[in-house]
Amino acid sequence: MSNSISKVPYPSNEPVLSYSPGSPEKEEVLKMYNSLYNNILEIPMRIGSKDVKTGDIENLSPPHDHNHIIGSYHKANKKNIEDAISTALNAKMAWSRMPWESRAAIFLKAADLIAGPYRSKINAATMIAQSKTIYQAEIDAACEFIDFLRFNVQYMQEIYQNQPESSSGIWNRLTFRPLEGFVYAVSPFNFTAIAGNLCASVAMMGNVVVWKPSDYQVYSANVLMEVFKEAGLPDGVINMVFGDPEMITNTVLKTKEFAGIHYTGSTSVFRDIWSKIGKNIKHYNSYPRIVGETGGKDFIIAHSSANSEEVATGIIRGAFEFQGQKCSAASRVYLPKSKADSIIEELKKELKTISIGSPANFKNFMTAMIHKSAFDRLVQAIEQIKKEKDIKIIAGGNYDDSKGYFIEPTVAVTTNPNYDTMKRELFGPLVTLYIYEDCNWKDTLNLVDKTSEYALTGAVYSKDRYALEEALTVLENSAGNFYINDKPTGAVVGQQPFGGARGSGTNDKAGSAYNLLRWVSPRLIKETFVPAVDYRYPFLG
Ligand code: NAD
Repeated sequence: MSNSISKVPYPSNEPVLSYSPGSPEKEEVLKMYNSLYNNILEIPMRIGSKDVKTGDIENLSPPHDHNHIIGSYHKANKKNIEDAISTALNAKMAWSRMPWESRAAIFLKAADLIAGPYRSKINAATMIAQSKTIYQAEIDAACEFIDFLRFNVQYMQEIYQNQPESSSGIWNRLTFRPLEGFVYAVSPFNFTAIAGNLCASVAMMGNVVVWKPSDYQVYSANVLMEVFKEAGLPDGVINMVFGDPEMITNTVLKTKEFAGIHYTGSTSVFRDIWSKIGKNIKHYNSYPRIVGETGGKDFIIAHSSANSEEVATGIIRGAFEFQGQKCSAASRVYLPKSKADSIIEELKKELKTISIGSPANFKNFMTAMIHKSAFDRLVQAIEQIKKEKDIKIIAGGNYDDSKGYFIEPTVAVTTNPNYDTMKRELFGPLVTLYIYEDCNWKDTLNLVDKTSEYALTGAVYSKDRYALEEALTVLENSAGNFYINDKPTGAVVGQQPFGGARGSGTNDKAGSAYNLLRWVSPRLIKETFVPAVDYRYPFLG
């Protein structure tokens, strides 16, 4: 038994490897990519110690080559979900009583496994199944997930160290209990790191979890489970299930031990889940914790003092990396008339140099959309623009799904700041520009604030400090992550805790102590050393 006060290794951000020509990491990841690509993997669910196969199977294909099969996964029936819940609850006692240092050690080991022996596998799986370039896979599946694990261990220690004052004759202590019951984690397709963090952060704080990854992230989720197991996570702490999201969610939300949801995905699904929780509220043992990071309609606004090349680069990286499928991706841009021509010229020039295709070809900056319905959603928006009078495509606008779901990086200019694509989250490589008169800077800031229901990320480019101050004030509630002279994507754990409010989520800031605090229920213990023996206070005398 440990009777020391431990200090965890102080975290620093995992260095991003270059994958430059001839580098050993490039050779290794391509070897792994080819080996996974040319095999067919059968992926079971993981409930307790069991690999669960139901025979109800869905095939898996890379979005950039949708006729190629890389594997299949087994989908749950209602009984499997009930088993996952009872398995989690059975694992709860031992897990929640395990010393926190041992929990920390498991997740620190998981981080080191990904940094080392599993790096190429988690990256290759993410490249294949989610169509990420190696750079996008490396900053997500490897570096961001490693950072989530290492920084969260540090934050966990800081939370436990946070103790109340005591006064003479008494000792006050806080213990940070895991939630009573189990937590449901529901993750999106677009970040392997988010998927891993949604279940790992909760489990780290001593909770047990039923985790439902997106159908389009199952392949890399399976690698995460492999890592958790090798790191020594006891069976039953995280149970991974696949299948009909509505059936799974309804089964989970009907259980009285449901203690919270850790969700990332679209706004409409989160609102639906929240209202179901509301309807069931009398049924639960505790008020469930509801944490959700949801959609975005992220903006860039350039001031007339901004540098055109910097703005154009911010738009290209912010809007088109990972095909615009980041919740933080820039999709509406406001340009001052005096700079619009030079920014657009620079954009057009640079966009001509972008190549699109398989992530196995490292020359490609962009790859495919995640699935057919995402592809169709973007095609429909592009075709609609082609019919309208108040908006015009000035770059891109072509697409081809014969082999993979490929769409060109597309830029449209509108004279209507409330045009559909300025407001609706489309989650693809389409950015709409609106040009304002330089003298209308302040009005345009108000327009940015009022145009969309979301408030996730936003960026302002300006060399004028007064203009920046004005933007910070007017846009105070327009973005949870606000960038000055930088693109609105690419938050780094430990540096830019991530999340937004309004329709973008509960803003519990993934990758921070604020988030971990949602997964504990503090208990105050007051101990009096010499208790009173007479009820009378002196004033009664
Ligand atoms: P999605 O809403 O389609 O799916 C998210 C998860 O919800 C998946 O696991 C899915 O299976 C599940 N789901 C779908 N329908 C459901 C239902 N009826 N009941 C219960 N669960 C259901 O989202 P996606 O396409 O995987 O991801 C893209 C979305 O996620 C975008 O809106 C994006 O902005 C958002 N996102 C937000 C953040 C953030 O931090 N704010 C990060 C990543 C993604």
